[in-house]
Amino acid sequence: MPATTRCALAGLQFDNTFTQALPADPIAENYRREVTGAAYSRVTPTPVAAPRLVAVAAEVAALLDLTPADCASPEFLQVFAGNVLLPGMDPFAMCYGGHQFGHWAGQLGDGRAINLGETLNQAGERWTLQLKGAGATPYSRSADGLAVLRSSIREFLCSEAMHHLGVPTTRALCLIGTGEPVVRDMFYDGHARAEPGAVVCRVAPHFTRFGNFQLFAARGENELLQALLDHTLRTDFPHLGPPSPAVYLEWLAEVATRTAHLIAHWMRVGFVHGVMNTDNLSVLGLTIDYGPYGWLENYDPDWTPNTTDAQHKRYRYGQQPQIAWWNLVQLANALHTLVPDVPGLEAALAAYPRTFEATNQAMLAAKLGLVQFDPAQDSELVGNLYRVLSLTETDMTLFYRALAEVPSQAAISPEALLQIVAPAWYQPASVTPAIHTEILAWLAAWRARLGQDQTPDEARRARMQAVNPLYVLRNYLAQEAIDLAEAGDYSRVVETLEVLRRPYEEQPGRAAYAAKRPEWARQRAGCSMLSCSS
Ligand code: AMP
Ligand code: MG
Repeated sequence: MPATTRCALAGLQFDNTFTQALPADPIAENYRREVTGAAYSRVTPTPVAAPRLVAVAAEVAALLDLTPADCASPEFLQVFAGNVLLPGMDPFAMCYGGHQFGHWAGQLGDGRAINLGETLNQAGERWTLQLKGAGATPYSRSADGLAVLRSSIREFLCSEAMHHLGVPTTRALCLIGTGEPVVRDMFYDGHARAEPGAVVCRVAPHFTRFGNFQLFAARGENELLQALLDHTLRTDFPHLGPPSPAVYLEWLAEVATRTAHLIAHWMRVGFVHGVMNTDNLSVLGLTIDYGPYGWLENYDPDWTPNTTDAQHKRYRYGQQPQIAWWNLVQLANALHTLVPDVPGLEAALAAYPRTFEATNQAMLAAKLGLVQFDPAQDSELVGNLYRVLSLTETDMTLFYRALAEVPSQAAISPEALLQIVAPAWYQPASVTPAIHTEILAWLAAWRARLGQDQTPDEARRARMQAVNPLYVLRNYLAQEAIDLAEAGDYSRVVETLEVLRRPYEEQPGRAAYAAKRPEWARQRAGCSMLSCSS
């Protein structure tokens, strides 16, 4: 039989509905500008000198029907570095605006993201492929359209970590080093340095944000606003039926519902997005735009990883539910010209607080091993838990894992109980007898509450471990992978991804990935402090 050769990526079938359905910027030249009357600008990625594959997410490749051999091929490297376009690709940058830190910022747009096209896999699913860091677009403003390895590793690893945690998110297919330096001033303080450049290929049904709708509304481009909404409805919300004002309201309610689920998940796992501007919220309810995000280590509702937000802490962990609500109100405002029905918009928005409360309570109950959240008693139990977690620096992730080990009924000494939760404390020596007493009082109340449910400990433990992860992308773990990768060793990126694929399951030999933040990481850039510079 003759040997058959096959182009590794020939199986990718493109069906570019966004560029087909919506008006394009008529200017083909790639220079920075305001783009009006268009939903996007066609633009090609900037080729790079010496691409090198850092990592691939096998599950995402499988979504695209790509085999490991396909991903190891030279074509894969060239295509996802932005050097080669495949037949059927129609690359473009989206036009959107947004509120940044509470202020309307006008046009933003894909300044360093280029959509390559929409693929249809064999299961009939639509996935948009998008390169982040592949060069300037008309929306790059004063920036370069590039991304550095450190921020690309953070995006790549966290997208996949979130997916495996069960948190809705955009995905990441691969991470490629460009072989070209990119100059960045990490804290905007005059210390610019050249860093290795990189490109991540992000994958999602699409990347439409609240800000896409906001920009057209702000400019009075009502036809465009309606065209974008109708297109979004047809491609991603077909179950709502053909577009009409009533369906627009149902759509808003669904976006509100999805956003409520999203934020409840963030709160469950201790994720802090860091820059919840309206251009960074997906209308699909996915986590999008991994920049100066961070993971809560010691429980602190006021913590934000983003130094750009250090003063007002708008995007701190504990405020994320309110900010999502604020952002949804901006989206509703943008729809007002299409549906001038304020009570209708308000009723649609009401899906957010309703869903958030119900989802968050269900998640809290699950985290605490309760069959069901009973507001009459459990609101107080949870309020007291947060107080106890704040008495001494307590690692949130480890604390919930430890709770799963506490027997609900069997007699146990106070010392033994404290020993179970003590590994979560950052400063065990400073935990005073008074704090011991308070923690024990909370544990007693919680155990009494468990007693009402009568769930056998083994079953409860399994249920708790299924919602309380053991492995999260701790800020310092990402930084350790970055430090090694910047020195040319990508193995830690690969290994970290491997561990984070099964975040709820204790993995032999991987204890280091579940360790609480070491002292050196407390004040280190990239571990406790991040910025938007990436
Ligand atoms: P962000 O706060 O990261 O969501 O970015 C806000 C806006 O800045 C978006 O329009 C981004 O596309 C743009 N942006 C961020 N970094 C860069 C960069 N290096 N080059 C061009 N545009 C960028
Ligand atoms: Mg963004």
